[in-house]
Amino acid sequence: MDLKMSELSEIRKLYDKLPHTECEAGCFRCCVNSIQMSQSEREAIGGYDWKGRCPKLGEDGRCTVYDSRPLVCRLYGASELLSCEGCKCAEPLTEEETLDILRRYRAAAGKLS
Ligand code: SF4
Ligand code: SF4
Repeated sequence: MDLKMSELSEIRKLYDKLPHTECEAGCFRCCVNSIQMSQSEREAIGGYDWKGRCPKLGEDGRCTVYDSRPLVCRLYGASELLSCEGCKCAEPLTEEETLDILRRYRAAAGKLS
């Protein structure tokens, strides 16, 4: 496995630790801010060139790379630190759990951009 694949595989293990969230229908409020991600996540979504909104946001307001979306997109609404009023999550990560995920993410991801 090359370095990027092994980095992505470590990051995907963290995705699996996040609680399930259900977004408010038609909402994309969190997709209009510029986000940061690892190089491997950027490659997994086919590049990212922010221009006032996420380039992966479809015309219908849905994420076109939903299954590959980076960690930051998955954390929104899934953590007490990144709570979202429109997002349903039965058991959001506590502050401590979130910081632990972020520590492990930074260790696996290297430099974010
Ligand atoms: S996480 Fe919240 S703000 Fe983002 S799309 Fe879902 S409901 Fe909307
Ligand atoms: S990758 Fe998807 S979920 Fe993340 S900001 Fe872009 S459109 Fe939203």
